[in-house]
Amino acid sequence: MGGTIRLFKFSGIQVYLHFSWFIVAAYEYSRRAGVYTSPIWALWEYIALFAIVLLHEFGHALACRQTGGIADRIVLWPLGGIAFVNPPRRPGAMLWSIAAGPLVNVLLLPILTVALALVRADVEPTDFAAFVGHVWWLNLGLLIFNILPVYPLDGGQILRSLLWFPLGEIRSLQIASVVGLIGSIALAGLAWFIGMDVFWTAIMALFLISRAIAGWQYAKALVLEEEANRAARLVPTVPGSDRPAL
Ligand SMILES: [Zn+2]
Repeated sequence: MGGTIRLFKFSGIQVYLHFSWFIVAAYEYSRRAGVYTSPIWALWEYIALFAIVLLHEFGHALACRQTGGIADRIVLWPLGGIAFVNPPRRPGAMLWSIAAGPLVNVLLLPILTVALALVRADVEPTDFAAFVGHVWWLNLGLLIFNILPVYPLDGGQILRSLLWFPLGEIRSLQIASVVGLIGSIALAGLAWFIGMDVFWTAIMALFLISRAIAGWQYAKALVLEEEANRAARLVPTVPGSDRPAL
């Protein structure tokens, strides 16, 4: 947990904030301040973004605990949040732990829509109304981005969990990480093409690509583990030894 500060603990889950959050907060503030009459709203916007991300991560963590898995930490950093979830090695447990995150954004959608309708009812356009409008889009943007079937994004992990049912733990991860790798490169290309912020595109692409490769390597480790298990089972049991007969 290097470079982080402890924020608070809720329901046994400790929330950490990475120091780089402050650097990016300053960068985003300077980029967005001109959008509002009073620049303080740019700061509120960034804080609201993190509040949404935090709720999303709690969705993952609490669902994971429900399945009997381990989830005791959430780290907030400039690319969003990471809930360190370790669900039991079952496709259903994995599916629920992952799907619960985007589900929070789905639940926020009608709430924010009502809030938006209320502030838009005012005749005079205010910073607050603009802020609610931006937060509405932030939530929708996060939802759409997260459910893209690009491993390690939630959508990619949902795809992996669904493939796990018919194809097993290893094959599903292999397919999802290859799709993730191709999808990450395609996403970066698309972001660059539509003129997204180059800094963010590069960081996000590097992060996704490295995680997709890590997924592939983990699948490889699982193959080795399975081979070792099979080899152990092939060894004949020696009478009188303590080797278990499988
Ligand atoms: Zn998520």
